[in-house]
Formats: sequence, C-alpha cells, structure tokens
Amino acid sequence: MQQLLGRTGRDLVVEETRAEITQTRQRLIQNKNVDVTLDALAQRIEARVASALAMSLQPVFNLTGTTLHTNLGRAPLAEEAIEAMSAVARGATNLEFDLDKGRRGDRDDHVEDWLCRLTGAEAATVVNNNAAAVLLMLNTLANRREVPVSRGELIEIGGAFRIPEIMRRAGCRLVEVGTTNRTHLKDFTEALSPKTGTLMKVHTSNYVVQGFTAEVSDEDLSALAHQHDIPYIVDLGAGSLIDMAALGLPHETTVTETLAKGADLVSFSGDKLLGGPQAGLIAGRADLVAKIKKNPMKRALRVDKVTMAALAATLRLYAQPETLQAKLPTLRLLTRPVAEIQAMAERLRPALQAAMGDAAQVEISPCTGQIGSGSLPVESLDSVALSIRPNTHGKGGRSKSGGKGRGTGGALKRLATAFRGLPIPVLGRISDDSLHFDLRCLEDEAAWLGQLTDLRVQ
Ligand SMILES: *Cc1c(COP(=O)(O)O)cnc(C)c1O
Repeated sequence: MQQLLGRTGRDLVVEETRAEITQTRQRLIQNKNVDVTLDALAQRIEARVASALAMSLQPVFNLTGTTLHTNLGRAPLAEEAIEAMSAVARGATNLEFDLDKGRRGDRDDHVEDWLCRLTGAEAATVVNNNAAAVLLMLNTLANRREVPVSRGELIEIGGAFRIPEIMRRAGCRLVEVGTTNRTHLKDFTEALSPKTGTLMKVHTSNYVVQGFTAEVSDEDLSALAHQHDIPYIVDLGAGSLIDMAALGLPHETTVTETLAKGADLVSFSGDKLLGGPQAGLIAGRADLVAKIKKNPMKRALRVDKVTMAALAATLRLYAQPETLQAKLPTLRLLTRPVAEIQAMAERLRPALQAAMGDAAQVEISPCTGQIGSGSLPVESLDSVALSIRPNTHGKGGRSKSGGKGRGTGGALKRLATAFRGLPIPVLGRISDDSLHFDLRCLEDEAAWLGQLTDLRVQ
C-alpha cells in the first residue's frame, strides 16, 4: 500500500480505496462471498488503481478485413509521418511563424504547396476532417442561400454525417433535384434561382446506384454553375491523389481529375485513401480558398501542429512514386499480394492451432475484404484468413443468436472476447460459425504470435 502511494498520487489511491470498501460492504450486506483480509483488499485496490491508469486508447490488430476501418482509426501512418509528429510534439514549432520573414505565418503554408503540386489546384487549406471541410465550404459560399443537390447524392456516412443535416447547420437551404436514380442537367437548370449560392456534387462513397440511372457530369455542372457566376464544389470523400488502377486497385476518381473537369473546390479526407492523419482537405480556386480562410469557422475547425506534421510528411511521400507503395501503409496493405498473405497464414496456423488445443479447429480459408471508409464499396479485395471453428463436442446444438449458449454461437463469442482481451487486442469477424482473422493488415507477425500464450478462453 505504501509502495502504491509512492508510485501514484494519494488522491487516486484514496478514491479507489473508498470505492473498494463501498463495494466490499455491499457484497457483505448481500451475503456474497468476499475476502476481507487486508492482503486481499490491498490487492483489489491495487488492481483498481492500475485499471484507472491504464490507457483506454491503445493499439489493436485490425484483422476485420476492412483496411480503412473508421472505428479502428482508419489509415495507419507511415514511419515518416510518425517521425514528423514526434519531432514537433515535444516543444515549440514554427506552426504559424514565417522563419524567412521573421513574422506571423499561416499554418496551411506547411502543406499548401504540396497539395497544389499533387492536385493541380491553385490553393488549398486544411481542417479537422472532411465533414468540417464540407461544412466550411457550404457556410462560406452559400450561407442563407440555396444549394441544389441531386436526390441520388443525399448521403449518410457512418456516424452523423448526413448531407441534409450538414446543409442546415451550414446555414444553407438544400434544394433537392431530380430523383433517386436519375438526375438530368435540366433538373439543375430549373432549380437555379437568384438565391442559389453554389452547385454541389457529393460522391456516393458507401453505396452505388445501379441499373436505370443517370447523373450529371462534373463538366456539365461546372459549365452550368459558371454560366450563372456561382461556384461548383465537390465532396469527393476518399479523394485519392493517384490513379489506383495503376496499382491494380479499382479506379477511384482523383482530386486532380475532378479539378480538371471544372470543379472550383474539392474536399476530401486525409485518412482515407490518401493514407494520412485525420484531416479535411480543400483544394481549388485561390479566391475561394482565401474566402474560406477568412471564415471565423475555419478557426474553430483548424488542425494542430501534430496533424499538420503528419500530413506534410505523408504528402511528401507522394513526391517519389517509386517508393510510395512501399512506404505508405495504406497502399502497401491494399496492394499486398494474396500469395504473401497465404504464406503468412501457413506460417501462423500451427501456432494458433496449438493455442486452441482441442477447443477449436483452425483452417486457412480464402476470404474477401474491403477497402473501407466508404471507398469503392462494391469492390472487394481477395485475401486469406485464419478461421477458427469451435469444437462443440455435441454440447447442445448451434445457437444462431449466440448469447450464453453452449452452442457454436456462445463459443464464438467467448473466443472473440478472449482475443479482444489480449495485451494488443485482436479484432476479427464472425461468420459461418467461425471467427475469421483476415491477415491482409497483419504486419507484425512476431507481436501477434508472441501474445498467443496469454490467450484465456473462458
Ligand atoms: C467519408 C466522407 C465524408 C466524411 O469525411 P470525414 O473525414 O470522415 O469527416 C464526407 N463525405 C463523403 C462523400 C465521404 O466519403
């Protein structure tokens, strides 16, 4: 106890001691079995203090098959980005200080040139995420004005990002145009009024409208907007900076292409296909970017020095296309050859089977994963999984609903819980009576193997 007080603050120990005593008293009142020796109490208090101090935000193994998993923090960062972050984290930096001129600078200066080079834009700015970028573009260009958007593009992205909602919060009046499956240029022409602030296209990231469909091209929308002296803006979502098809991945419209087709501003995420930190990037016309920078909301949505450093370092990797795929984890993982994943599965299977004993059967199975973050939703990535199928030894049948049952469902839940309880929690996917670990995103094999001895299946 004395040692504990020495290691941690007095207040924390006192607080946890009180909580433990309260709980112990309650258990005694309820006639529950509880060890009240001093040693046992001290041990429980120590455990409480340790748990209060443990970091809740921690690394995990993402073996879900979704490479850019929003709930798991999206893009893994490049070593270069991590180094840049720690280089600026500890002390003062020239975040908003121009070292040449010796006076106040703009934090966007650290990435704007590179964003322009990589997209062909005249100017660019950075905010907290793409949702913030969309909010800021709309509020700057169309506050108290109308914004026509195709009914086929009124999207909801995971969480609370819904275009109609964002529009309202940005102070804009959404004018719905066309139908869910077909929208034509004349629909937009008819929707235009003196109150129109901007035309907008939203990339339908996480779904596709298939079949009898029609949408208006970027070229036609930008031409129409420019005839009426209003801007044309695009929420591109994933916003790739390079041609994914050249890497053997499905084609995704690039920022450069969208600007070349006449968009005045394009917004996209930093932590989707770009492979950088969470950020929202806006690239396009210099006069419009200048307006955005003057909007007081920009101040509320800006990014800090650590994000700026990571983004600046990530963008520089794009300057060397020859090494980009090897250095940028997002691209490295997305383009990982299936044969390589298969070989890893073969290396890891025996150890996993040994850890399972006769509780489960471990098999290597082909599987399909996803890019994630709404990118290219219909395209899947061929991959290989280690699949664990619990042996139920005839104890009751299958329980589809899972729960506490003794069937496969219950056993699968206990398995998944055990893997989540490891020092570096391992997250997989349950389907077809098995727990699958898609190995596409496993790079540190040794760390993964090393902790299998800690596995405790209840
Ligand atoms: C992902 C996405 C967003 C939200 O971007 P965040 O960076 O998550 O804020 C907005 N619009 C589209 C089209 C998207 O795909």
